[in-house]
Amino acid sequence: MKRIYLDHSATSPLDKEVFEQMRPYFSSKFGNASSLHSFGREAYEAVENAREKIAKVLNCKPTEVFFTSGGTEADNWALKGVALAKKDGRHIITSPIEHHAVLHTCQYLEKNGYRVTYLPVDKYGFVKPADVEDAIRKDTILISVMHANNEIGTIEPIEEIGRIAKEKEVYFHSDGVQSFCKIPTDVNKLNVDMFSISAHKFYGPKGIGALYIQEGTKIEPLLHGGGHERGMRSGTENVPGIVGFGAASELGLKRMGKDSEKMISLRDRLIRETLKIKDSWLNGHPVKRLPNNAHFCFGLIEGESLILYLDERGIAASTGSACSSKSLEPSHVLLRIGLKHEEAHGSLRITLGRENTKEEIEYVVKVLPGVVKKLRAISPFKSRKELSSFKSTEED
Ligand SMILES: *Cc1c(COP(=O)(O)O)cnc(C)c1O
Repeated sequence: MKRIYLDHSATSPLDKEVFEQMRPYFSSKFGNASSLHSFGREAYEAVENAREKIAKVLNCKPTEVFFTSGGTEADNWALKGVALAKKDGRHIITSPIEHHAVLHTCQYLEKNGYRVTYLPVDKYGFVKPADVEDAIRKDTILISVMHANNEIGTIEPIEEIGRIAKEKEVYFHSDGVQSFCKIPTDVNKLNVDMFSISAHKFYGPKGIGALYIQEGTKIEPLLHGGGHERGMRSGTENVPGIVGFGAASELGLKRMGKDSEKMISLRDRLIRETLKIKDSWLNGHPVKRLPNNAHFCFGLIEGESLILYLDERGIAASTGSACSSKSLEPSHVLLRIGLKHEEAHGSLRITLGRENTKEEIEYVVKVLPGVVKKLRAISPFKSRKELSSFKSTEED
């Protein structure tokens, strides 16, 4: 059976060209980038070369790009690092639909004496810039609002929030893991002081990411040791990973316009056809959303069974974020945009990639209505009324 991968927001395949560029750094070019000899210099140059390629996508200086083990570390670093560095306050502002790498870090900080304001979001998942302004207090040290949501694809008004943050002289971090190399991420236009990115979400390798930190930003390192990354992030550089990260960024920048045009056309075809299914709707904003994201709900259906049925037919999709899909708790994002518990359970996230074809989308569009119908036929919830008494069982 042909398998169709439609879960690119969980992770993406490593691009063949990217892998080829990484390959020598696993074997002959194995040097430690800190070593003074030729092996070391070879590795060092590869790392700096990659840093430049990433800086190009962000439109920043290469010295403002700091490598991390991924998006999770970058998010943790931005929040904890600023909390440790700024002694003049203990208040943070964020949205309730952030990735868990931000939300759980905020909860951890709350346990340690920090106060966190979780802004309201509307039915599309938008944060209102005016709400950010109202939430700023004398002791606010940081605002963290994601660029694009990993579940419903909504693109937040980052420029405006950033303008307010600048005016009020509060640091502004944005989780750009889903937006980097998919939509423009010029950090000057976005008015951000910090921006998290991760390579495996755009055809690069897993386990490598970066935090953009604008020059002059007060932030403490999380990892201490040999003083790598100019003392900001110790640990021997993951050279093959960094090379792959750079290669994927170069490729991503070059292909952004073309790829997104193609994905928007496939995405919109998918949305149009899927919404013909009875009792279905689209989550997230219809236009201000990632080019590759389509997120639906189907009434009277359980998302997990939908994923398994689709998988049997060769289609790999997701119910929400990969991290939460193993638990039966409904997505915090869907609950916060106003869906009921039982509605949030019937969700399907389809995230496209540059390798997906029209034929694949036609296949999905053909298979999906039948799967939904079948699941509804065996659904224990015969009506909306019964459905509303349904409660999820918690699972670790
Ligand atoms: C995937 C993801 C992360 C985590 O990145 P990792 O590199 O997997 O640790 C953080 N934020 C968002 C929005 C993501 O989609």
